[in-house]
Amino acid sequence: MSTTVTDDTAARAIEIRREIHRHPELGFEEHNTQAIVERELSALGIEHRRVAATGVVGVVRGALPGHVSGLRADMDALPINEDSGEACSSQVAGKMHACGHDAHTAMLLGAARELQRTRDTLHGSVVLLFQPAEEGPGGALPMIEAGAMDDPKIEAVAMLHVDSRLATGTIGITPGPVNAAADEFHLTIRGKGGHGAAPHKAIDAIPCAAATVLALQNIAARETDPLSTIVVTIGTIDGGYRNNVIADIVKMSGTVRTQDPALREGVEAKLRRIVDGVAAAYGAQTSLEMLYGYPPVVNDPALSAAFASYAQEEVGLPVSAPPPTMGGEDFAYFAQRAPGLMMRLGIYNEARGSVHAGHSPQFRLDEEAIPTGIRTLVAFARAVGDGSVPLA
Ligand SMILES: [Zn+2]
Ligand SMILES: [Zn+2]
Repeated sequence: MSTTVTDDTAARAIEIRREIHRHPELGFEEHNTQAIVERELSALGIEHRRVAATGVVGVVRGALPGHVSGLRADMDALPINEDSGEACSSQVAGKMHACGHDAHTAMLLGAARELQRTRDTLHGSVVLLFQPAEEGPGGALPMIEAGAMDDPKIEAVAMLHVDSRLATGTIGITPGPVNAAADEFHLTIRGKGGHGAAPHKAIDAIPCAAATVLALQNIAARETDPLSTIVVTIGTIDGGYRNNVIADIVKMSGTVRTQDPALREGVEAKLRRIVDGVAAAYGAQTSLEMLYGYPPVVNDPALSAAFASYAQEEVGLPVSAPPPTMGGEDFAYFAQRAPGLMMRLGIYNEARGSVHAGHSPQFRLDEEAIPTGIRTLVAFARAVGDGSVPLA
């Protein structure tokens, strides 16, 4: 079992992480990052192709027969002014790797290097998925549509995301849904305008809107299993002209967060029933638009359990099961098409100031975590390849 990471590989990955960190690029603008990935894969003698504009797919082919795994890293940065004090801080004003995707890319390159180096004992193939635009508008689907999972066909897919909730050196593996779908809705309530002193000649959209806001609380409070996770928030409400005019239109927008795909699917129907029912009671009309974001990532339960015990017992990695978050992640699309595993990589280290959550301008990444991340990715590829982790 070869899951050691050479000092060389770890040092090189840290160097690459710093290089990417200094030159952050937003979604679908990752031209420099793409060039770094291609440069490194070419130097390692790993075949690669471009997909989805700024994405790269590489393939490491083991010398021994076996299964095909996929390892995914995202490459994009955020529109944030860096204030971390790190020596390798962003050299681009208004852009920062504040979610750790620089480290994700560097660790996948490190794993590629180790897998290629130990190819003689590697079963199966490993598809390296370097993905653009995770923070938006989403690079996973364009990669999948370009055939990134098809040649060779990926049988199980994994990713790591750095996580400041966990101490450096630990890995988080939680079965089932591990984050949330973030969907958005826009509602217009139409009544009939009129004089504020003659309500009987109008249809007032404002009390209808007020009743609608209250009634929508029932989706979470009365219509959902209390042990399930759902949030329905009305974030904006806008209507009316002046104190003595009856409003003919009120517009509202809100967000729906869910972790369970079945629950998510049912929310739009509940929203429509409540909104239309309340409007009918007031004699008003509605139009409701749902805008769906990324689905929740659902970690395959069997794969999660099998790899968690493999990582602990065979590789000696400390594994915990952190609670899910309500964030979004378009790795979900890969995990819908093959058994998937979104793992967390601990980076919390007070001594290094790595204490801030992702998306903070003060976010700092403890590079001590990088060798652990590389070992985890290599272990996943090897365990899937030789069948140590059985696939359903
Ligand atoms: Zn992020
Ligand atoms: Zn992220």
